[in-house]
Amino acid sequence: MRGLSGQGVLVSGGTSGIGLAAARRFLEEGCRVFVTGHEAEPLEQALEELGDAGELAGGLLLDVRDHEAVCTVIDAADEACDGLTVLANNAGIARRTPFLQIDGDDWREVLEVNLTGMFTVGQAFARKLVAGDRTGAIVNMASTNALGGEEDYAHYNASKGGVLQLTRSMAVELGGHGIRVNALCPGYIDTPLNTGIAGGMGPGFADRYARERIPLGRVGRTDEVAAAYAFLASDEASFVHGTTLVVDGGQLAVM
Ligand code: NAP
Repeated sequence: MRGLSGQGVLVSGGTSGIGLAAARRFLEEGCRVFVTGHEAEPLEQALEELGDAGELAGGLLLDVRDHEAVCTVIDAADEACDGLTVLANNAGIARRTPFLQIDGDDWREVLEVNLTGMFTVGQAFARKLVAGDRTGAIVNMASTNALGGEEDYAHYNASKGGVLQLTRSMAVELGGHGIRVNALCPGYIDTPLNTGIAGGMGPGFADRYARERIPLGRVGRTDEVAAAYAFLASDEASFVHGTTLVVDGGQLAVM
């Protein structure tokens, strides 16, 4: 895609699912890519897997709830990529719990990773670019759950709704620095996160969900979201700013 080759890209949560596919896509586009993951084994595996796909700049463990670690990792990624310009702000978790059973710890964990973590990484990244007088692009990972209140996901829905408003606020304040900021809203995508949740919902859950709720009749693939990440980060989206791209097989179009 136009303008991607040679960019320095940081993918948070780049060791699994959508983030791993995005890292691979950015490597295929000729970017230098740095990934972060939360756990050691998936990070090791991802680095091995991505090593063949292009110019992998490296990877580190990161808990996006740890402000100091976020700043350290952004510094390391910036150096390894010889200058970061693109952030796929992707790390996130989901928990399926009925509203009446969510406790304070559940609520805080989801909000801290999905919303506060996205703020912390986005701010540290933007500060780095502004300090270096560098333009760039940030893509924040939201969800269709930011746009509709799916049952049993109140904390997740609220965190992703917050990501959309965070995205608009970042766009308003960072546009003047030449940093474009947008959000992605995927629907049901086949990833380890959803495999874990679907496992507790009985056999055939994903197929049933797709048949009943998604007009295209199937769940999404990680490469289909990776393509949207690449588009929003590229020069093909040079006037796309402060908005949301939905990648959901038509799910939100259903009445
Ligand atoms: P996934 O396969 O579980 O990947 C999540 C990634 O985030 C992993 O790399 C994980 O690292 C990392 N992570 C988890 N907790 C973290 C923390 N505290 N600090 C830093 N990194 C952390 O999930 P996915 O489905 O690809 O989801 C990726 C993003 O897309 C999430 O923001 C999710 O909400 C969003 N999303 C997913 C769907 C979907 O249907 N799958 C739909 C809409 C939006 P480890 O593997 O090391 O734990």
